[in-house]
Amino acid sequence: MQKIQDRLKRINDNIANACVKAARDPSEVKLVVVTKAAQLEAVKEVIRLGYNDLGENRVQHLKKVHAEIQDFLERNPKLDQQVNWHMIGHLQRNKVRQVLPLTCMVHSLDTLRLAEEINTAAAKLGVKAKVLLQVNTSQEPQKYGMPVGAVIHLAEQMMSLKNIEICGLMTMAAFTNDTGVVRSCFTRAKELFEELKGEGIVTSAFKELSMGMSNDYTVAVEEGATILRVGSAIFAD
Ligand SMILES: *Cc1c(COP(=O)(O)O)cnc(C)c1O
Repeated sequence: MQKIQDRLKRINDNIANACVKAARDPSEVKLVVVTKAAQLEAVKEVIRLGYNDLGENRVQHLKKVHAEIQDFLERNPKLDQQVNWHMIGHLQRNKVRQVLPLTCMVHSLDTLRLAEEINTAAAKLGVKAKVLLQVNTSQEPQKYGMPVGAVIHLAEQMMSLKNIEICGLMTMAAFTNDTGVVRSCFTRAKELFEELKGEGIVTSAFKELSMGMSNDYTVAVEEGATILRVGSAIFAD
């Protein structure tokens, strides 16, 4: 467990250094701890260390860990913590109704049909669902996400859905060790982010850029990420 604390410290140091390099304030950057491959004890340790934003990419696992952590928090009222779960993985339309009540934000909105489904489910719950538009900046055909060239038009269409709030963009960089290629995915997302804001298509809620994972989060910070999604750098042995 000491190992987890040490790793989180190193990650926070790296984020701080990247912020210095990019002349950014570290308070602009939130770490979402991705628990999909973590042991339950390790997730509890992360919560004890004060991390409140956790991410899962599969609905089945989200439901399981969510329940386990809810139970843990109820048994440990002294922690006095509320955990915010982020749905970061591909979301099937028939799972939307299960996911919304458990999560604070869906990072993986990538089609109009999914947006409509989220909108309908959110209306039934009487909430406005916070979503990020997932963009396929690496242009790898097997990846999820809207094609870069379709984002503006889709965002415009989704703005008419009253029970979703578009809070920003999410992307995954190309899977490669070539930092130049990774960086170009993030700059593409940042450009698109500024373009959507500049054209007045989105509201003032549009402020998050979710990008950067274990292998590339420092590059993401340099390119303007406001949310990092990091798992294996914290949990993997
Ligand atoms: C697993 C996952 C992450 C975290 O990846 P690591 O390499 O373990 O840090 C981030 N985003 C998404 C969408 C994921 O599925």
